[in-house]
Amino acid sequence: MTRPDIKIGSGIDVHQLVSGRDLILGGVKIDHEKGLQGHSDADVLLHAICDALLGAANLRDIGTHFSDKDAKYKGIDSKILLTEVVKLIGQKGYHVVNIDSTVILESPKLNPHIPEMQRVIASILKVDEDSVSIKATTHEKVDSFGETKAIKAYAACLLNK
Ligand SMILES: [Zn+2]
Repeated sequence: MTRPDIKIGSGIDVHQLVSGRDLILGGVKIDHEKGLQGHSDADVLLHAICDALLGAANLRDIGTHFSDKDAKYKGIDSKILLTEVVKLIGQKGYHVVNIDSTVILESPKLNPHIPEMQRVIASILKVDEDSVSIKATTHEKVDSFGETKAIKAYAACLLNK
């Protein structure tokens, strides 16, 4: 029996919301009074997607490939990291089938920005926009996510050869 050469992956990331930083989500800059803290541009959604892709290809995680101790990644655009991850999974013969993701945040409203995020992510992953699902949900005012202290993102992906 031959098994289909498909792999599932999942990724999760959290960054703290702080003043004095731009808010970059899904590769898109969003007007907001706070931004995400991190060594890179702290794009929590792209980081979760990177980890899902790496996990599906059994290539460890984003920190293994792009150390937050390395000065060359300071302030880096996470679209560059995702592009590198697509190359890494490509070296193992994989390409992306689809992504499903969820961003947990109280504010700002993500829905108006989702089509642009889908365009940006789909072009990096070389898939149709219809293969990039992005959902947003609040945390019902509960704990650090509900109190707008942090944003969390989950991503699942399917790869095939
Ligand atoms: Zn991150």
